[in-house]
Amino acid sequence: ASFHDFKLNKQLLNAVEELGYDEPTPIQQKAIPLVLNGHDVMGIAQTGTGKTAAFVLPILYKAKYAQGNDPRVLILAPTRELALQIEQSVKELSMYTDLRYVAVYGGVGPKVQIEAVQQGVDILIATPGRFMDIYLKGELVTKSIKTLVLDEADKMMDMGFMPQIRKILEVIPVKRQNLLFSATMPEKVVTLSEEFLEFPEVAEV
Ligand code: AMP
Repeated sequence: ASFHDFKLNKQLLNAVEELGYDEPTPIQQKAIPLVLNGHDVMGIAQTGTGKTAAFVLPILYKAKYAQGNDPRVLILAPTRELALQIEQSVKELSMYTDLRYVAVYGGVGPKVQIEAVQQGVDILIATPGRFMDIYLKGELVTKSIKTLVLDEADKMMDMGFMPQIRKILEVIPVKRQNLLFSATMPEKVVTLSEEFLEFPEVAEV
């Protein structure tokens, strides 16, 4: 298999090459075409399998180029560490595009993050609490969000984020593509996926 088998653009293929990714990993082979086709996707994969690029690459393809001021993609992560890792992947894979990304998370003041969002952002990476903080301050316009990713959903459930995720779902557009990634599928994640995904395709490794 090759990254050239996917409907990705030159900018993304160049980044993949630059990063030294010779071929897509199994989760990438399964998930990338499903995301590109617009399905809701449930990805079941551990960290270390390449699951981040499995959703970041097709998201970058669909976002294409910098547009407007407000985020069109929201990626939710349970921890600051994961938010920063996802930001790093977005940074690397978008290196030949003009797409703008910002990560917002707790543990630091919101001011710098709000200023970054105000500069214009296509892809917002956030922990649930900080997303809601900034939203409630009136500093986040959510109406352009067309793709929502929940990464490490099992960890999100373990950390008790369900109520916050429900609140976030109430303040973003209903018509959107949803992606859920989880290493494991305990009952709580199954419940979440039933609430959150519409006719999902499953990519499992
Ligand atoms: P993840 O599972 O998303 O935490 O990714 C684990 C590591 O694999 C990261 O350091 C990625 O940069 C790397 N990686 C992702 N996709 C590939 C690939 N197709 N080939 C080689 N390395 C990859």
